[in-house]
Amino acid sequence: MKTILITGAGGFIGSHLAERLKNEGNYIIGIDIKYPEFKNHLEICNEFHIIDLRNQLDVANFKTSKQVDQIYHLAADMGGMGYVFGKDAQILQNSGRIDLNIFDWAHKNNINDILFTSSACRYPEELQNGDDVMLKEDMAYPAAPQDGYGWEKIFGELLCRFYHENHNMNTHVVAFHNIYGENGTWCGGKEKSPAAICRKVAEAKDGESIEIWGDGTQLRSYCHVSDAIEGLIRTMATDFHSAINIGTDRCISIKDFTQMIIDISGKNLTIKYVDGAIGVKSRNSDNTLSKQLLNWEPSVELETGMKVLYNWILQQVENK
Ligand code: NAD
Repeated sequence: MKTILITGAGGFIGSHLAERLKNEGNYIIGIDIKYPEFKNHLEICNEFHIIDLRNQLDVANFKTSKQVDQIYHLAADMGGMGYVFGKDAQILQNSGRIDLNIFDWAHKNNINDILFTSSACRYPEELQNGDDVMLKEDMAYPAAPQDGYGWEKIFGELLCRFYHENHNMNTHVVAFHNIYGENGTWCGGKEKSPAAICRKVAEAKDGESIEIWGDGTQLRSYCHVSDAIEGLIRTMATDFHSAINIGTDRCISIKDFTQMIIDISGKNLTIKYVDGAIGVKSRNSDNTLSKQLLNWEPSVELETGMKVLYNWILQQVENK
């Protein structure tokens, strides 16, 4: 049994991670600026602390009841394209401060293992204009990501590298590619495309149309949250210090992805393409490194995972 601190434990991936690690018998200390929306915080964590991690003094003064063995650092100012677009300064300010404070706390409290959650947004924008672009981890440098969110991820990765090189900490980095699943934000502006499209479909009536940003040709790969958690836990068990992609390598256009969700709903809907924040044209996860280092790759089929997500969101829409 380990004592594990999870920042962002009130969020989508953090709450799934906390639940799994607690069920496996570990002692979980959750930190977030808010409680989880869809789970009771004390069911998924042994302790849960509400802290604004941007606040240097509050983080420096934070004391745990037990010596922490591992930190999964997930807290970030984060959302889908509709949220991050145009908020580069805010995101770099908020998440940059969080990262600095957490790495300093980990170092001063003698924590050896810390894992940082980077993103596919770490990759240079100019590489992602072709068709089905397979992104290998070392293609991220020299760095030229699209926006402030991507630069903050590069910044966090550099903190990992320097705390490893200067202080010999066992730092770990995953680069997530579009994680989706139930118990995540599905409305309000911070939701990502899988949840947003499910909500639009769930709210639409037969014969209506739903709006999709862009022309539908953007290509993405999507990974179920249960696979993402498995990837996180396996990465933490390594002594590898650079980024490892965690995502599926099945690329799908937004048009086909939306049609998949419409088919799951059983409704007769049409798609209307409108202007909106669309991000890069094409990105996919090259999983050569994760297969080799983690001896694993994601296994949840997109159709299976999306059925579960659609039905969960339909329930939320009906309950609202
Ligand atoms: P999320 O927004 O659900 O979780 C992030 C959590 O951080 C939230 O609960 C939020 O309240 C918390 N937080 C934000 N500011 C804080 C502060 N000042 N103090 C304390 N807590 C604060 O997002 P998620 O999807 O669960 O993402 C988790 C991590 O994975 C993030 O670092 C994100 O950038 C990364 N990531 C996620 C995806 C994805 O597809 N979901 C893709 C790439 C990377």
